[in-house]
Amino acid sequence: MGEDIARSVRYWGSVLILLGLVGCAPIGRKKLITTYISTTWIRVLIDETDNGIIKFRDGATITVGGRSIKVKGELQLKDGYVQADGLTLDTRDGVVITPEHGYFIWKGHRYRGKLILKAGKVINYLPLEEYLYSVVAAEMGYRREFEALKAQAVAARTYAVRKMGERRNRDYDIHAAPEVDQKYMGMDNEYVGARDAVNVTRGEILVYGGEPIRAVYSACCGGYTNDPPEGWDTPYLVGKPDPYCKGSPYERWRVTLSRGELEAKLGCRVQSIKVVARNRAGRVRFVEINGKRMAGGEFRVRLELPSTWFEVKERGDSIIIEGRGYGHGYGMCQWGAIGMAKRGYSYRQILGFYYPGARVVRYMR
Ligand SMILES: [Zn+2]
Repeated sequence: MGEDIARSVRYWGSVLILLGLVGCAPIGRKKLITTYISTTWIRVLIDETDNGIIKFRDGATITVGGRSIKVKGELQLKDGYVQADGLTLDTRDGVVITPEHGYFIWKGHRYRGKLILKAGKVINYLPLEEYLYSVVAAEMGYRREFEALKAQAVAARTYAVRKMGERRNRDYDIHAAPEVDQKYMGMDNEYVGARDAVNVTRGEILVYGGEPIRAVYSACCGGYTNDPPEGWDTPYLVGKPDPYCKGSPYERWRVTLSRGELEAKLGCRVQSIKVVARNRAGRVRFVEINGKRMAGGEFRVRLELPSTWFEVKERGDSIIIEGRGYGHGYGMCQWGAIGMAKRGYSYRQILGFYYPGARVVRYMR
């Protein structure tokens, strides 16, 4: 345990706030463990542009180069410069805008916390826990299964904390787009259940070997979670049967294409097509098209398939692709988490099923 702490503090650097194991042992001074970053605020990349309008309810304070300027109304970002109070501020130096009350508005959406403009990057800087309100709501949608929302809150928090460690020398910690990191939409999509799920799990993250785990998750594994990619040192990600997402909307799917449609998507004539290699968890590693190999992941992207777990059948001029699951299938299956919550499992049991061997610990401010 002591070695874990030393290692993770070296790895995650700086200050970090220590607390104890939750659930596994009493929280006491002797049991302090963990990790983590120097701040509990997170920098979320919400846009990349040099132009836009920033609105807020009342006034705001602009901080640039150690100077503070109070402004009212709205601000214009034009070609990388902010016009304020007769001054022209260059965002290459980093401009921080702090609304007086609550939130700012960017492209019609409200955001908590502050706005940082830095050389074409539009970054929302806000408390990690408040960032999670939107992520849990966006990633799970409106759900009543509270234990599943709590499991999502802990997984999303862990994912974010790990990124904060990995990217601490960059301009931002995490991307708001789900295809890059996890989905974040600002304040407008929050709802009470998602906020409660974050609040009651406040500060809890999953660790393995003293470090925040790679808490990856996807919509539906299709009945068997995926093995981790080669090169990931993640013993807590294991391909295994998942009975809990059975009957969910993405458990099974079918895509039918004409040969012409398939050829348009692949950009070549197709004489023959077959799956030639799978990983242990059943996902397609390679398909062979006219005797030439293409990675399953690339095939999935080109054809916009829900997952890489599929079979290909040719029926005359039609190509039928039948598959299972939605997303990469690593780690937590979100539909499975909902299924487990419906059967009465707790969020810790859900996390224990999808990230076996990882432990829930808590940090605090
Ligand atoms: Zn599943």
